[in-house]
Amino acid sequence: MASSLFIANGRLVRADAGDALTPGGVLVDGDVIAMVALTPDEQAAARARSGEVVDAAGAIVMPGLVNAHYHSYSTLLKGTQNGLPLEPWALYTVAYGKVLGDEAIRLAVLLGAAEMLRNGVTACVDHFPHTRWVESALAAHEASGMRVAFAPFMQDVLDHEFLEIALPPAIRATLDAAPRTDAAEAERMYRELVRRWHGRAGRITLALGPNAFQRCSPRLVATWRRLGDELRLPVHTHLVETWAQAARGRAVWPGGTVAEMARRGLLNERLSLAHGIWLESDEHELLARHGVTIVHNPASNLMLGSGRLALPTLIERAVPLALGTDSSNTGGRHSLFEVMRLALMLPRPETPDPRSWPGANRVLGMATTGGARALGLAGALGRIERGQRADLVLLDPRTAALAGAPTTVPHLVQHASAEAVTAVMVNGTWVLRDGRILAFDEGAVIERVLGVTTELLAQARAGVELAEAAAPYFLTRETPAV
Ligand SMILES: [Zn+2]
Repeated sequence: MASSLFIANGRLVRADAGDALTPGGVLVDGDVIAMVALTPDEQAAARARSGEVVDAAGAIVMPGLVNAHYHSYSTLLKGTQNGLPLEPWALYTVAYGKVLGDEAIRLAVLLGAAEMLRNGVTACVDHFPHTRWVESALAAHEASGMRVAFAPFMQDVLDHEFLEIALPPAIRATLDAAPRTDAAEAERMYRELVRRWHGRAGRITLALGPNAFQRCSPRLVATWRRLGDELRLPVHTHLVETWAQAARGRAVWPGGTVAEMARRGLLNERLSLAHGIWLESDEHELLARHGVTIVHNPASNLMLGSGRLALPTLIERAVPLALGTDSSNTGGRHSLFEVMRLALMLPRPETPDPRSWPGANRVLGMATTGGARALGLAGALGRIERGQRADLVLLDPRTAALAGAPTTVPHLVQHASAEAVTAVMVNGTWVLRDGRILAFDEGAVIERVLGVTTELLAQARAGVELAEAAAPYFLTRETPAV
């Protein structure tokens, strides 16, 4: 079989092998793992079946990492406002986002893909605000070689309305003029995108991307529920990222935001929620019962001062979990190695019993099988096992950061970074090898980004002035100590 490839002499990261890595090889046939070859007999059989043998020469072979909360447009917004809490910060990202356009979105998607592939990230959930540029974004995702669940926003309630922020009339009038999703139009868009893009290249999934429950009117929520149920799409949205959002949710809906989402029939296994920092105990229970995934974004949450997810509690309650990097202009790097380390470390100071600290295997599971669930690929992606989609990352253990005692999963999670990533395969196709991205011309993308970004962001001047005028009014709410 010419299309099959045997990656021989690897050290495999296998979910059922505990902390140890397993010497062996992986036979990839088409877009799936056809065989995991551990014994000499199995390896001989895999070689015999393969059209091509790649000698991994002791490289670590791990499942591709899934960035389960990400906004591609933000990769062009590095260096913009990142010194404020979420609500005032959002005014700036909206201002800059508005000026991008189709070509900039194409560049943003590919630039983000380059950064992620170099960090061993093979798939992302792209939570995408600018519905007028969805075609360029999707075309760029297809060209990137990555796997994506693409979740265009819907939103028709603005933060100052939900949070009842008192604003001078002129500022309010300008903010009120922002575009809002029309439910009927959104429905047309999703149906059309699903028809044209869902399943394209075996890598693209359409998802519904309401910005947040509280940012959708009852009419839009009804569209969300109906379309999600009918088309069986993954749904991705933000949830109680700040204390103000959670407090207001508890004030307007009995039991808070999650209880209201449950009453509207929105909680199910297709739903993933970014953040969830300010959830309360009864809400954890509801999410666990419905199999809803929480996507933990520790770097973003720290940078915006939003708070810290109660990770050990969520683990104890068996809430499905994934990891995300969020925006370049919040969390910074799109490195799940960094995010995994933060997820490991952050709970420790406030969790006296070390047996409740999340372990390396747990956080790696969040970044692989947990993320697969958010993509709508639960059970089909995230493990090195026969029948799984072939999204694989090879890491060189002979790098300064990784070299040491025999590598284990804790060793890998603690020390791996982009410098160790030598090859990346998505859906059975190499997209990065020997340190070079094969799927697209990374150098040309970077040159073009450097050529256009400064001028592009300068076009946001009027929007940024509005953000500067409005931001102080969005700063009035305090976050209590965790
Ligand atoms: Zn986000």
